[in-house]
Amino acid sequence: MSAIDNLPPLREVIAAHQLSARKSLGQNFLLDLNLTAKIARQAGDLSDCDVLEIGPGPGGLTRGLLSEGARKVVAVEKDTRCIAALNDIATAYPGRLEVINGDALEIDPLAHLTPPIRIAANLPYNVGTELLVRWLTPPEWPPFWQSLTLMFQREVADRIVAQPGSKAYGRLAILAQWRAEARIAMSLPPGAFTPPPKVSSAVVHLTAMPEPRYPADPATLSRVVAAAFNQRRKMLRASLKGVAPDIEDRLLAAGIQPTERAEQVPLEAFCALAREVKKG
Ligand code: SAM
Repeated sequence: MSAIDNLPPLREVIAAHQLSARKSLGQNFLLDLNLTAKIARQAGDLSDCDVLEIGPGPGGLTRGLLSEGARKVVAVEKDTRCIAALNDIATAYPGRLEVINGDALEIDPLAHLTPPIRIAANLPYNVGTELLVRWLTPPEWPPFWQSLTLMFQREVADRIVAQPGSKAYGRLAILAQWRAEARIAMSLPPGAFTPPPKVSSAVVHLTAMPEPRYPADPATLSRVVAAAFNQRRKMLRASLKGVAPDIEDRLLAAGIQPTERAEQVPLEAFCALAREVKKG
């Protein structure tokens, strides 16, 4: 029995189901159930929420989410080898875990979830970043989720919470901070994982705000920010030349010096610029 439930320790689960970690699936497992319960607690009060978990693997975080009281967990795992182990967890928590064998980038699990919904995941970083961008850029706001609790490489986590003037500041910081509160909730050394990755990791917690922090049209803001940071060393009047013919005037109207670089420009000013560009 493990420290948090009546199921076997994860090392035994992995041995019984022969779940040797595969690099191609970005598998670095968390085997300490006290740690996965701690990560689950970062997701907030789960008792009145459905939780979407992406990439449960052998189920360490899944068990953390369930033992911390999640109303229901819907877990999407690509690796078919893990499904039997996950079904054992579903049996131990009757009616509270639904396991879906599929690729999170391709399937839409929304039909399986009832609001309010929180999302939690320890994913390979490339899949995690792609899903994060999707979750941050839905056609409508507020999104279907209340909060995201996601493990990232430390460097990606730093980009999400970065402030103007820092090297990490860019498109991801703007996307994350425009309509969500983003903070680093936990830091984890490589040794927390089996096998250990080369770099440190961090859990980022994002809470969806009911309204964007500053008004702006999402598509225009996205276009402006992509162009600005695509050539981040250039002055904005050069990097944004293609965005509008009279971009210098629009920068000035938004309170931005045309000679500034994207790295120095706060979110509020990017939103003001997007409004000026949108005027047409
Ligand atoms: N959550 C487990 C844990 O913390 O021990 C496993 C973490 S491991 C870093 C990432 C998991 O995501 C693996 O189980 C892997 O098979 C799964 N995965 C990778 N790509 C995926 C995808 N596109 N859709 C769903 N699961 C995926």
